[in-house]
Amino acid sequence: MTNQHYDELKEKLLELAHLQATLAVLQWDQEVHMPPKGAQTRANALSLLAGLTHEKFLSLNNNNLLDTLKKDLDNNSLSDSEAAVVREVWHDYKRQKKLPTKLVTEFFQTTSAAIPLWVEARKKSDFQIFLPILKKIIDVKQREAKLVGYKDSPYTALLDEFEPHMTTQEVEVVLNNLKDFLIPFIKKIKQSKTKVDPSILLGRFPIAKQQHLNQEIAQTIGFDFEAGRVDTSTHPFATGFHPHDVRITTRYDEKNLFYSLASVTHEVGHAMYEQGLPVEYFGTPLGQAISLGIHESQSRMWENQVGLSKPFWDYFYPKLQKVFPKPFKTLPLEEFYRAINYVQPSLIRTESDEVTYNLHIILRFEIEKGLIEGTIQAEDLSRIWNAKMKDYFGITVPDDAHGVLQDIHWSHGSFGYFPTYSLGNLYAAQFFATAKKELPDLDTEFAKGEFAKLKNWLQKNIHAHGRYYTASQLVQHVTAEPLHSRYFIDYISAKYSEIYDL
Ligand code: ZN
Repeated sequence: MTNQHYDELKEKLLELAHLQATLAVLQWDQEVHMPPKGAQTRANALSLLAGLTHEKFLSLNNNNLLDTLKKDLDNNSLSDSEAAVVREVWHDYKRQKKLPTKLVTEFFQTTSAAIPLWVEARKKSDFQIFLPILKKIIDVKQREAKLVGYKDSPYTALLDEFEPHMTTQEVEVVLNNLKDFLIPFIKKIKQSKTKVDPSILLGRFPIAKQQHLNQEIAQTIGFDFEAGRVDTSTHPFATGFHPHDVRITTRYDEKNLFYSLASVTHEVGHAMYEQGLPVEYFGTPLGQAISLGIHESQSRMWENQVGLSKPFWDYFYPKLQKVFPKPFKTLPLEEFYRAINYVQPSLIRTESDEVTYNLHIILRFEIEKGLIEGTIQAEDLSRIWNAKMKDYFGITVPDDAHGVLQDIHWSHGSFGYFPTYSLGNLYAAQFFATAKKELPDLDTEFAKGEFAKLKNWLQKNIHAHGRYYTASQLVQHVTAEPLHSRYFIDYISAKYSEIYDL
């Protein structure tokens, strides 16, 4: 029996998806092609479209359509897939509905004013310039959390925007576990007598040649160029308008090949998730990615577990040596492999390696949580940041630009975003461990340049489901246990104990 209300919902969701895709095309163009003078008009157009999309989303409940379907959901009168669609739309709707337009506008105005102040503060390395507006943003986010509602911590209400259904406490458990491992492990690497020299990777790499190599790697690991493009932008990103039209970007440095290459394998991971979503559910939550954390698990797996592995380079290194004989022709693969996996505690998150990366996130998570819960005051941020850097990394922060002001996220008002980076790493390790168990010849395949088995496994087990499962249900479904940091710890521990002879 078909549910007339459900069909109506599907139709409206499809219209919304077209609007959102249009918005995304304009945003992509803004980063990739738009001339500087186009900025103001584009910002106006985007703000208009965002407003229309928001209104249209709220209008889903006209004539109580969503209320009626929610009743059907509670009465178990929907099919499995219908139930998942209604559950997720209701989840998003409930959140949006609780936020009054006044607060949404206030948020937009505050963060729009905050971004140039953050840029200035970072340039002058003066946190005081950013502090007053940051306090306003925190105040708005605290009010938002109260309106959205929460059980354990107001931070959960903010986290939910990026990692739906996850609680602060769940994040805390896995991150604390990880922290207990990382701090002593990083110390051990620092004290290791085995030295790794990443400068042997530097050279002169003409951009056209890099582009060619990127294209070959993206294609070989499974990016569908019939359903996607690779372009250049200041900050690499991936965006999907539809599974048949997914865009990624990268950037280039003539001296450092990995500046571009690492972002290509990363963004291709994101893109293959978007390309793998079920077309027949386009527009509904079953045609959407689950969360930022699950998205990040796909990118980090291809970037790190695959793209920084020995089998991957068994295949690609001879090609690299051919394209760039200098410096690679005389550099043995073993030394190259160590150099690309160089570990060094550093000040800047975005430049950190896969071992120290999560410690940067843990530091931000602890601070954000304190700010939103009110146990940390914004005035104390510089001091707390620097103390934690000293504590966790053994590093002295020279100035705020290299410390508390380094990331743009807080000026965007994106509180609750950072943990999804680490969750992504943890999901990736747990999924990859399961994939390796189920497909024991993955390494041999990679060494032959065959990546389809892993791609298909991810498509079948993760991409194909859209938001049918929540993130924690998916982890349980795919790996037969809840999320645990053990898999990441085992992966890092084995790999780097070998590289650094620990
Ligand atoms: Zn990413």
